[in-house]
Amino acid sequence: MTGNREIRAPRGTSLTAKSWQTEAPLRMLMNNLDPEVAERPEDLIVYGGTGKAARNWASYDAIVATLADLDDDETLLVQSGKPVGVFRTNVWAPRVLLANSNLVGDWATWPEFRRLEAEGLMMYGQMTAGSWIYIGTQGILQGTYETFAAVARKRFGGTLAGTLTVTGGCGGMGGAQPLSVTLNGGVVLIVDVDETRLRRRQGKRYLDEVTTDLDDALERVLAAKAEGRALSVGLVGNSAEVLPELLRREVPVDIVTDQTSAHDPLAYLPAGIAFEDWRTESARDPEGFTARSRASMARHVEAMVEFQKRGAEVFDYGNSIRDEARQGGYADAFAFPGFVPAYIRPLFCEGLGPFRWVALSGDPADIAVTDQAILELFPENEGLKRWITAAQEHVEFEGLPARICWLGYGDRAKAAVRFNELVAEGKISAPIVIGRDHLDSGSVASPYRETEAMADGSDAIADWPLLNALINTASGATWVSLHHGGGVGIGRSIHAGQVSVADGTPLAAEKLQRLLTNDPGMGVIRHVDAGYDRAIEVARERGVRVPMLDS
Ligand code: NAD
Repeated sequence: MTGNREIRAPRGTSLTAKSWQTEAPLRMLMNNLDPEVAERPEDLIVYGGTGKAARNWASYDAIVATLADLDDDETLLVQSGKPVGVFRTNVWAPRVLLANSNLVGDWATWPEFRRLEAEGLMMYGQMTAGSWIYIGTQGILQGTYETFAAVARKRFGGTLAGTLTVTGGCGGMGGAQPLSVTLNGGVVLIVDVDETRLRRRQGKRYLDEVTTDLDDALERVLAAKAEGRALSVGLVGNSAEVLPELLRREVPVDIVTDQTSAHDPLAYLPAGIAFEDWRTESARDPEGFTARSRASMARHVEAMVEFQKRGAEVFDYGNSIRDEARQGGYADAFAFPGFVPAYIRPLFCEGLGPFRWVALSGDPADIAVTDQAILELFPENEGLKRWITAAQEHVEFEGLPARICWLGYGDRAKAAVRFNELVAEGKISAPIVIGRDHLDSGSVASPYRETEAMADGSDAIADWPLLNALINTASGATWVSLHHGGGVGIGRSIHAGQVSVADGTPLAAEKLQRLLTNDPGMGVIRHVDAGYDRAIEVARERGVRVPMLDS
């Protein structure tokens, strides 16, 4: 079976599987491959370079057939996107367990991964691609918006009005950058080699304008900056060429970051290779392409460091570009920080992270009910109110209607249990799927991103995501995933995900309460263990049990 078909999750309240616990993973797998959601659905690629939802079309068909027939005391095992077994378990056990892209330490390299991928033995699962909880660009929007808000507070008096941000990569995740900057009042120039990516974000109102001409782009962004008017402009170009040119022209840039797919050197287009030749060149000579790609990233990061020297706020946005540039021969690549230590770690100490949910009915009215519930549950949280209001106004749904909002320990369980009540009361027309990114407070070991510069030096310890997957499996999740590589590339991270289903039953209420207490609780204990004062306070205030905390 080839990819010449369009996948779209069923909508409405009739089941195609035996229960909502299996209908949910079925619809979410299909939703990941909806052309409105996925970047290259014909190749099963959802986002993040080559992040896939299933290994191949035969595996996809077999997963769908198995889920349609799975009982509520059975568990399907998925190994790098291929369904490999079904076992009898119990109703509290997950319906699906997934392990994607995992390799033993010494073998965890791109060449070995690519060899196995070419043999048909593995796939790249990214974070939410292979774990079936990608919700389109909105999935990263609030995190990106909050990151730019943190930059505004740190450097620009609380607003980005009158500032110019320059970034690259307007793909599945990177496409959230322009709207995040404009929601903070700023001006952004976003560079992408692929015009279709820029047009796609423009079509969904994540990006205001697109041009192929640098002079034209600069005229527009500098005028907006001077007037203090929010504006996003997409420029078709290569960041490795555009950034040095901006330096040469002494363009007054205030903030620089990047979200090209730098974590995978084959998914980053080096300067000097034409866009049309990208796929054939990378397939013909992956090693040679990698070397050229890294050399380009070295120039790209060198320009970022130069902007920092000239006073701009510069940060790595979670794509490993610093390490790739270092391997490309640029020694000062780590001169600027990653965004987690710079802005996000204090949130992680409270178990705060990207909580998200999806209306399986396909009805946007169901998300409106959940939005209202969030506002009623947390009336004192001004930031949350500002976010939900902005999201309602600016976010166009891609695929099944969904919402994201960052919630912490205690609050996630409260929200989930409330959603379950609303389903039980019939105020929401069909069950709600509740999940999160793998990028979360206690679910990932990633020394260039989520666990960069931990207070106790424990950046590379991967016991934590393993424990996270185990506790979620034991706490009532509907599917649990354990991946390697994610946003930063092979060899650089281990991370876990969980998804649950608020189907309105008392059993779901019990599972949600435990799962959504324990999962963010991992974030609290991980940061307690590393010695963060705020995490210790949160553990004490909210009763998170840590055996050796007070001994
Ligand atoms: P994507 O593959 O959908 O998009 C990447 C984009 O980069 C593409 O549009 C591509 O055309 C463009 N690109 C490649 N080389 C370029 C170059 N030299 N100059 C300009 N544009 C170029 O990936 P995505 O889902 O948007 O993710 C982007 C990166 O961010 C990945 O490395 C991903 O792992 C990482 N990521 C970060 C976070 C985070 O929280 N910060 C979260 C998810 C993913």
